[in-house]
Amino acid sequence: MVKKSANLAVISNNTFEATKAVNLHNYDISSALQTTMEFSELIAIFSSKIANKVPHSAYVYTNAEFELEVKSGVFTRHACNYALKVEQQQLGELKLMNNRRFRDTNLQLLETLLCCLIYPLKNATLFHQALKMAYTDPLTQMHNRASFNDAIKREMSLAVRNNKKLSLIFFDIDCFKAINDTYGHDCGDITLANCAKLIKQNLRNSDMVFRYGGEEFVILLSDTDASGAALLAERIRSSVEHHTLAYDMETIKITASLGVSTLKSNDTVESFIKNADEAMYIAKNNGKNQVVLATI
Ligand code: GH3
Ligand code: MG
Ligand code: MG
Repeated sequence: MVKKSANLAVISNNTFEATKAVNLHNYDISSALQTTMEFSELIAIFSSKIANKVPHSAYVYTNAEFELEVKSGVFTRHACNYALKVEQQQLGELKLMNNRRFRDTNLQLLETLLCCLIYPLKNATLFHQALKMAYTDPLTQMHNRASFNDAIKREMSLAVRNNKKLSLIFFDIDCFKAINDTYGHDCGDITLANCAKLIKQNLRNSDMVFRYGGEEFVILLSDTDASGAALLAERIRSSVEHHTLAYDMETIKITASLGVSTLKSNDTVESFIKNADEAMYIAKNNGKNQVVLATI
């Protein structure tokens, strides 16, 4: 555990900005850092490679852009912090800790060694930004259909392996075409982004929302049985119903229909999705603005 007083021992809040692409004096470190694009692995490699040059008891790496915190080792009193940056690109913050004060010579050496880390971190950042973009719907900022196709397979095999429940909610905005027709496409877009936000507000961090199609979202709920998923679907339905969208001088009310399915032992990806989709269509046929549970 880090004590509050540890802050007193922080040497600096330096910004570290690299000027050289490679540091030929530390080829061993540089080449080891070229073996991965994963932030956690890069930091672990860096920490172990510099251990004999800059002794430290622990490291903490944080990267706000990717909501990442990687830490390892024994947290001790003395720390040095670096906000890593290259060519205006923020690369996260690295903190090293030690049980005795870092010597100036060690800090100078560390700053030289950080040159080796900075470009691999930049490559990892570009790679993860590209990956994020490929899996994100630009309008709603939710995961997209391609991401869903991967996630459902992964979550289904995890649920089977760990003998856990898995549920799926299909969410479809009611009479969405009328919103586009009455108020225009821009208003439709805002409605979609608002719905995504409302869904997200009702979920735990581990739940995943995907934009499945035009005005359809799917929500994957790990470790959640049918009654838990039904409760959540009802909460989402209710918060959409009670939300008022302001657009120009208009106030617009929206509703949605939701279908819920829970993974059964004989389900395939297709049947698991189809069950939630069909339940959603029953909700539509029953008058919309309601939740229906798949019964098969
Ligand atoms: P129901 O209550 O039966 O679900 O009817 P609906 O009008 O919601 O559904 P329908 O499938 O008839 O219409 C969906 C509309 O969604 C048609 C399409 O133009 C619109 N749409 C799809 N993607 C987008 C988008 O990205 N932005 C906007 N503004 N509209 C979209
Ligand atoms: Mg639809
Ligand atoms: Mg619809």
